[in-house]
Amino acid sequence: MTHPAQPKASHFINGEYVEDTAGTPIPVIYAATGEQIATVHAATPAIVEQALSTAKAAQKAWARMTGTERGRILRRAADIMRERNHDLSVLETYDTGKPLQETLVADATSGADALEYFGGLAASLTGEHIPLGEDWVYTKREALGLCVGIGAWNYPTQIACWKGAPALACGNAMVFKPSETTPLCALKVAEILIEAGAPAGVFNVVQGMGEVGGALVTDPRVDKVSLTGSVPTGKKVYAAAAEGMKHVTMELGGKSPLIIFDDADIDNAVGGAINGNFYSSGQVCSNGTRVFVQKGIKEKFLARLAERTGNAILGDPMDEATSFGPMVTENQMNIVLGYIEKGKEEGARLICGGKRADMDGYFIEPTVFADVTDDMTIAREEIFGPVMSVLDFDTEEEVVARANDTEFGLSAGVFTKDFTRAHRVIGNLEAGSCFINSYNDAPVEAPFGGVKASGVGRENSKEAIKHFSQVKSVYVRMGDVEAAF
Ligand code: NAD
Repeated sequence: MTHPAQPKASHFINGEYVEDTAGTPIPVIYAATGEQIATVHAATPAIVEQALSTAKAAQKAWARMTGTERGRILRRAADIMRERNHDLSVLETYDTGKPLQETLVADATSGADALEYFGGLAASLTGEHIPLGEDWVYTKREALGLCVGIGAWNYPTQIACWKGAPALACGNAMVFKPSETTPLCALKVAEILIEAGAPAGVFNVVQGMGEVGGALVTDPRVDKVSLTGSVPTGKKVYAAAAEGMKHVTMELGGKSPLIIFDDADIDNAVGGAINGNFYSSGQVCSNGTRVFVQKGIKEKFLARLAERTGNAILGDPMDEATSFGPMVTENQMNIVLGYIEKGKEEGARLICGGKRADMDGYFIEPTVFADVTDDMTIAREEIFGPVMSVLDFDTEEEVVARANDTEFGLSAGVFTKDFTRAHRVIGNLEAGSCFINSYNDAPVEAPFGGVKASGVGRENSKEAIKHFSQVKSVYVRMGDVEAAF
């Protein structure tokens, strides 16, 4: 019998599901059991062509609609997503393995927030009037044209909406390629947009591996590429986009610092460290995986952390009591287990976890290492799994320098009751998305994105509008033209 997660077809183009079984089959594996629940096919060159030409053709008329009309459609899509939150959350859990306890509140809901927020902004995208004596200049905020979105596997619904909503609000059309690991959810976003009244062709989904992503990025008709993925992929995609002088947004990886001063509320700091390392089983780009704890509170912090981490409930992700799910794939599990071994070999002290959980599926126990030093592999490389490194520090100056000593710069957090220090430390940290006495909040109203190798551009908030539109300026002369000859 067909599994309920099996989509009608692999791709969604020009308002309908489209199949081409000549494409490489991509199995969809449910991470909690290892069972294959669906198959999609990678886009063939014919499918890529169909998606790009459809989007290109649909974009102009979409951009000519008023912002109010575009916004109404996006807001209607937000309402539909919220009405179907339960079903969409179950699908997200099948796609990623993340527990329903999380997907019910973090995925379709976050996607709906983006659709609602950018739907609300769509009618306010205006230019300015610049008086120049008798003459004047006016500016227009225009769509970029045809945008490509490429997603990572940790938040398939959210990523499709975080890219699609601002792109469409500005009058662009989009071809979105989900991660080959989680191909299911973006199809639902495309379906819902059509149901909400979006014209066929303005939001299309094609499946495939990096090769399909590459074909989209290099196509001369594409004006902008927005990627969520790893730094190595980001470098390739950025370079390919530069070749065609395309706009880019790069949401890439991190190895973010979370700094806990000895005056911090210990339970809040432990809660921040748990949210910043174990939500989505650690598969979050902005995670604060280098937890710097001031020496005076180190053992107290570790004891409370171990105690609370012991309360994680590993189990069937569809059971709402489960608070900790599996790694997205067997391969990702093995990569993370490899890092855990490295941590042990290089002399870090294992506080809890440290191995694969004794159950079906790709579960790894939430793992904490203490006495981690800056040069250890687990302190330098992005692991993208539930492995927290706790490092000691003495002074503010020292910890800021060590926190910044990384190629990444996505996020940073600080826990302290001293607000002067909190703002000073955050001011000195090289990161794009920062937290004071909190960690990993991502409201649509706030810009999100990284500095240094962690990325270029911002998602969410009014900032995202700047990255999906461009300004045309028009000089208007009222008098005669003076010329030299
Ligand atoms: P990945 O880089 O392997 O793949 C990301 C996407 O890029 C996939 O859809 C993949 O098919 C595609 N791709 C791969 N090679 C390509 C190429 N040459 N041209 C075009 N597309 C190509 O990343 P992943 O393993 O899916 O996701 C994990 C990574 O994503 C982590 O590094 C994580 O930190 C990062 N991430 C960042 C954010 C953020 O917002 N900053 C959010 C989530 C994940």
